[in-house]
Amino acid sequence: MIRKFAAFSISLSLVATPAMADTLVDNVIGVTVDGTGGIDTFTGLVIADDGRIKTVLHRGDKKPKTSFRIDGKGRFVMPGLIDSHSHVMSVGMAAMTLDLSNTRSLAEALAAIGAYARAHPDRPWILGRGWNQELWSEKRFPTATELDGVVGDRPVWLERVDGHAGWANSRALALSGVTAVTRDPAGGKIERIAGGKPSGVFIDTAQDLVAKVIPAPRPEDLDYAFDLAQRIFLSYGVTATADMGTSIEDWQAFRRAGDAGTLKIRIMSYGAGIENMALIGGPGPSRWLYDDKLRLNGVKLYMDGALGSRGASLKLPYSDAPGVKGLRITSDTQLRNLMSRAALDHFQIAVHAIGDEANAALLSAIEEMAPTYNGDRRWRIEHAQIVDPADITRFSKYGIIASMQPVHQTSDRLMAEARLGPNRLGGAYAWHSILAAGGKLAFGSDAPVELPDPFAGLAAAISRVGPDGEPAGGWMPQERVTREQALAGYTAWGAYAGFADGRFGRLVVGERADFLFVDRDVMLASPSQLAKTVVLQVYVGGQLVWDTAKDKRPTP
Ligand SMILES: [Zn+2]
Repeated sequence: MIRKFAAFSISLSLVATPAMADTLVDNVIGVTVDGTGGIDTFTGLVIADDGRIKTVLHRGDKKPKTSFRIDGKGRFVMPGLIDSHSHVMSVGMAAMTLDLSNTRSLAEALAAIGAYARAHPDRPWILGRGWNQELWSEKRFPTATELDGVVGDRPVWLERVDGHAGWANSRALALSGVTAVTRDPAGGKIERIAGGKPSGVFIDTAQDLVAKVIPAPRPEDLDYAFDLAQRIFLSYGVTATADMGTSIEDWQAFRRAGDAGTLKIRIMSYGAGIENMALIGGPGPSRWLYDDKLRLNGVKLYMDGALGSRGASLKLPYSDAPGVKGLRITSDTQLRNLMSRAALDHFQIAVHAIGDEANAALLSAIEEMAPTYNGDRRWRIEHAQIVDPADITRFSKYGIIASMQPVHQTSDRLMAEARLGPNRLGGAYAWHSILAAGGKLAFGSDAPVELPDPFAGLAAAISRVGPDGEPAGGWMPQERVTREQALAGYTAWGAYAGFADGRFGRLVVGERADFLFVDRDVMLASPSQLAKTVVLQVYVGGQLVWDTAKDKRPTP
């Protein structure tokens, strides 16, 4: 209703000048992060025609007369949530391809792959993702030969859950041209069997050897994937996200949606490497487009791989793989060149660093560059998962933002213990320590690696207890954050990390009216109840964009 009337008044304004139509949202129990990191509560909002908040009403305030009214019926209202690290197009593509994330054995995965291939006889490639050998009873990497047993007629390419390894069948290997004599590329590894033949699994940059022969998705495929992604994010109450690795094709799909009026979520974009950054942004970061819905902020770079595939770069060898210290994707020299190239034109820099060696080396690079590239830079370390406790204080000096994913802690806990051993966990997923040291935090999901569910993230952030209730009392509970900090991590701090502070992230006068109706009081719910919060309705810029009673979350 509201949406229809608002659109009507905008189209009329071409021929006449109607009175601006404010909307009153009242009768709510509202919360938002205030200007100082505390929590402000409110009972209503007045939203101007431009989608910005005009007035915040508190108990006892007189309600203004407005053209439109949304009766909150006593329900709980909170800011739209910001996912500070996701892969937007991959979320949509994942909903279009085979999902192996729930398989508990290799045999189960193979059965699912075979069934999927039979159900999609028209697909020239069978594509999927989400497998994790750590969750399989076999606990080892699969092989091409095993895959050939279920799909032999067409190429198959299946990404591991963290995107840091891929699994091919023999058809895909033949198309890629990779053989026993192919050398491992820098920053990657070809898993091999007897005689040096590729086994079918490719780690980190070696994945490109196969991925490059997969036909690129067409623009219409990307538009469809983006539509799915937007609906998935909104269904979880996410109204804005940082897209960590935007290609020029992704950006064009975002722009097509913006031009068509179908861009619903807000995207803070980070180009996939310098090349995409420059193609998209040209001489510098873009302006905010489409009423603060889209901006190219900067670049996403990679230091190392991930812990699960032992690609994270560690100072000392892995506890469960003697002599192995992981892989650096970017050398110190390359990193400085790439960072200077971006910083010179004032692009924001966001670098993936998971292992303690990668984090230390990145901190050193930032410390070296910050005096030259001064001003408001908001250097971001993506993941900052395993940091040597001796390096944690280094986050404070240049206001470095640790962009972290609370659910990684609960998902990866046992794997991290195995990879690192008991004596190297002091700086693992160390949210509280980074804050206490003067660093800044922003929280996200890394979707599609994890579900883009901020309520699961909020629960993990304040409890360090997984959805299974383990471990009781929380894993390294001293690293929990307060509920206020967790909410800020998914709202105001996420906006700050993406140069969107003052535009959205808080329900205060002048910011965009991005808010959720949810079914419980998130400031009072226990962590396990908080994780089960149901999003009822989602408003972006004062417009209803998701209604759980009517809209359905897409599934693969
Ligand atoms: Zn990521």
